[in-house]
Amino acid sequence: MGTLQILKKLITGSAKQPDKPRELGRVVPDASRCVQCGICGYNCPVGIPVRDYARQGLPVTDPACIACGNCVNLCPRGTLRWETSNHVIVLERFAEKMGDLDPLKEE
Ligand code: SF4
Ligand code: SF4
Repeated sequence: MGTLQILKKLITGSAKQPDKPRELGRVVPDASRCVQCGICGYNCPVGIPVRDYARQGLPVTDPACIACGNCVNLCPRGTLRWETSNHVIVLERFAEKMGDLDPLKEE
């Protein structure tokens, strides 16, 4: 498995959801990818209008979110992802490492 695949799995592939979703993080959209199909919200078991968040490019901050992952998994456009403080740390380290490996970077 390549580095990018491992990172993708770290970001989106968490099989086990924690007991306290708020500590896990939150669903974050990329508004530029959203086509407003509504699949995310239709499949949200607690009825959160995820599409409205996605359209505005806002994280899903509704406290009713149970971190089930349905919206992230079912979005046909890959608009939604999990964001956690751990993920941010991982991505920052990855970016640092990639900077070290940048062939255009001057020695
Ligand atoms: S499922 Fe994805 S593309 Fe469709 S409304 Fe939700 S975020 Fe947008
Ligand atoms: S993670 Fe689950 S509960 Fe939270 S907004 Fe998405 S579908 Fe709804």
